[in-house]
Amino acid sequence: MWHSAATVGLLLLAPIVIGAQAPAPAVGLGFGIDTTIAEVHDIVALTRAYLANPDSTARRRGLWSVGTKLDARFGDLVTNAYQGFNVTILAVTPAFPGDSVYAVKLLHANSPKTGEPVSALALERLFAVRASGSPFGWQLAGALPRLTRDWARRNAGRITFWYAPGQIQSPSKARETATFVDSVGRLFSVRLPEHIDAYVTASTDEAWRTMGLDFFPDGSGPETGFGGRSIPRAGIVLIGDPRVGEDYLHEFVHVVLSPTLNSRTAAFNEGVAVWLGGHDGHPVTEMYTLLHKYQLAHPDVTIAQVLGGNSPGGSEASNAMYTTDAVIVEAIFHRTGIPGLLRFANVTGSATEVLARLHEFIGPTDTRGIDGWWRAETERLAKAH
Ligand SMILES: [Zn+2]
Repeated sequence: MWHSAATVGLLLLAPIVIGAQAPAPAVGLGFGIDTTIAEVHDIVALTRAYLANPDSTARRRGLWSVGTKLDARFGDLVTNAYQGFNVTILAVTPAFPGDSVYAVKLLHANSPKTGEPVSALALERLFAVRASGSPFGWQLAGALPRLTRDWARRNAGRITFWYAPGQIQSPSKARETATFVDSVGRLFSVRLPEHIDAYVTASTDEAWRTMGLDFFPDGSGPETGFGGRSIPRAGIVLIGDPRVGEDYLHEFVHVVLSPTLNSRTAAFNEGVAVWLGGHDGHPVTEMYTLLHKYQLAHPDVTIAQVLGGNSPGGSEASNAMYTTDAVIVEAIFHRTGIPGLLRFANVTGSATEVLARLHEFIGPTDTRGIDGWWRAETERLAKAH
């Protein structure tokens, strides 16, 4: 899960939220799609029906398969592809030898003006499975269970780690993560997910591909390409950074806490995840030091700018945003423990609204104001660890 933001450029930072899927305003056909062929005709009709309403009712309406456990329980896991972009159906071809499973490739993209290049959000791959008796004779299905069927796997506590071909297993990291997950559940007294599936892959790209997203934006530059993602409602962690491997703890915090605490703010969700699980494979202590350095390099930047995503420095600004969430969470914990954090979890609203209410949780901030507090608290944490 990520900080949410309204602009496409930051979509990669948006959490995958159930129920937020928007219909495609227009659906078109790519070169080579010949709907005079019976299978193609029926699968295109099914896909159009789904894209008009790409939400969790698809199973009830007979459009989505219930043939695997993941499909039956959660339906479409790749809800971040449905953000109201137009869709072009690019390909309808057999996915495996035989005639009962097809791959359907979808381009989610808008063309701002005629003659301009498209803005592409996602290249998605769904499967269509023959299902006689269903409304279209076929049902859509997710990529994940079909693409990982033959992957090596290892159980540790309530977690199953699935390894993409070529990934090295670390039994000790797997055990450490299983213990960590239980300890996070105990700390917040939440009911742990029955089971967590964690997919260990070579890159964010490979992790998304496994989910059926052959392309999804991931910013650009040196800090991109590797990282973790999670789909808490389905108990799924995606690890796309071999330098970290099984103990990409940050995403496991989301999977343990989000289903129960369901906080609406990034300050709580990301703050707790960074506080307990670090950020991008770095422990929180390193992040506090980096935030302190960032503050020294930017003496005029305010906490409101950082949390609003309006501070300078590219990936450093993004790190500063996540770490500031952790500073807030650790300060609340320091003052009022888990009960204080549980109250903070109920706060709603924008970053500005959260900041306006912060004094209720951290106490008055004396004459230095909230920015003085932010800088002093960060310095204290950077030096305390
Ligand atoms: Zn996160």
